[in-house]
Amino acid sequence: MVLNGFDIGSGYENYEAKKPFTFADHSSIGCGGYARAAFYPKTTEGLSALIGKLEADKVPFYVVGNMTNVLPPDGESRRVFVCMNKLKDIRTKDGVYVSAGVTAGELLHKCKALSKTGAEFLEGIPCTLGGALYMNAGVKGAYIGDITESVTVLKKGRLRVIKRKDCTFSYKHSAFMDDETVIVGANLRLENADKEKIGKKLEEYRARRAHLPKGRSMGCVFKNPEGLFAGELIEGTGLKGFRVGGAKVSETHGNFIINDRGATSAQVRTLIGIVKNAVFAQYKIRLEEEIRILE
Ligand SMILES: Cc1cc2nc3c(=O)[nH]c(=O)nc-3n(C[C@H](O)[C@H](O)[C@H](O)COP(=O)(O)OP(=O)(O)OC[C@H]3O[C@@H](n4cnc5c(N)ncnc54)[C@H](O)[C@@H]3O)c2cc1C
Repeated sequence: MVLNGFDIGSGYENYEAKKPFTFADHSSIGCGGYARAAFYPKTTEGLSALIGKLEADKVPFYVVGNMTNVLPPDGESRRVFVCMNKLKDIRTKDGVYVSAGVTAGELLHKCKALSKTGAEFLEGIPCTLGGALYMNAGVKGAYIGDITESVTVLKKGRLRVIKRKDCTFSYKHSAFMDDETVIVGANLRLENADKEKIGKKLEEYRARRAHLPKGRSMGCVFKNPEGLFAGELIEGTGLKGFRVGGAKVSETHGNFIINDRGATSAQVRTLIGIVKNAVFAQYKIRLEEEIRILE
C-alpha cells in the first residue's frame, strides 16, 4: 500500500492509515500545518509491525497521544505521525495494565468502576497514558511516575518491560525523553477503596482546576523553576494578555498561551521567545519549555 508517497507495505490490518493529518484539527493548541500521513495502531502487534516498517524504511516519525503538550510545525512536517489514541486496553489480572492510548478520563472511569484509587490526580488532564508517562504528567505533589510499577516499551523491534526505577521519573521528565522509546502501556500501582471516597477525590481535583484558562492551549508552556512559579514570573513582567497575531498570553494564567484568533505556530514560538526574554531581563531566570516543539 502506498500512502502519499510512503510505501507502507501490506498485511498490517491492525492499524488505520489516514491522510492528510492536519495539526489544527488534532492538537489542543489548534495550529500548524499537516503531516503527509498518520497511522492509528489498534493492537500491540499492529504497532510493532508499523514501527518495524517505518524503522526499516528509515521513515522519520513521531509517536503522539492526544497532542495536548506539543506545538506542531507550520507547513508540512518532515515526519509521519503514529497516533496512539486507538490503542486502548485496560487489563486487571495481576495488577492494572493500561495501554498507552487510554485517556485519563477513560482510566478514571474504569478505576471508579473497579473501586481502585490512586490515579485521581489525573482528573481533567487531557492526556493519554503514553503522553502522561513520557511527560511525567500530574499536579503538584502527585505525578504518574509515583503510581507506575513498570512501563512496557517497544525498542529495537522488541517489547521490553522497564521497572519504575529505570524510568528515572522526575519533575516533567522521564527516561523516555532521552531515547525516544515507544511507550506501549504500563502497570499501575493502585489500591482498593470505596467508590464514594473515589468520587469525592475526583471532585476535589476537578474543583482545583476550575480556575484554569478556557480556550485552545497546550496547558503550561514552561516548567516551574525550582521553588518558583513560571506563571507568577510571567505575570510580573506585565505580559498577561500580550499577543502576537492570534496567540496571546492568557489573561488569567501567565503560563498559558491561548490560540484565540487562528494563530500560526510561528506566532506561538515568537510569543514564547518574547516571554523568555522578558522573564530573563527582569529576574535573570531562564525559563525552560515544558511543551515539546515538533518539527
Ligand atoms: C488545558 C490543558 C491542561 C493541562 N493540564 C496539565 C496538568 O495539570 N498537568 C500536566 O502534567 N500536564 C497538563 N497538560 C499538558 C498535557 O496534557 C500533558 O503533558 C499530557 O501528559 C500530554 O499527553 P498527550 O497524550 O496529549 O501527549 P502528546 O501531547 O501527544 O505528546 C507529548 C509528548 O509525549 C510523546 N508521546 C506521547 N505518547 C507517547 C508514546 N506512547 N510513546 C512515546 N512517546 C509518546 C510525544 O512524542 C510528545 O513528545 C495540560 C494540557 C492542556 C491543554
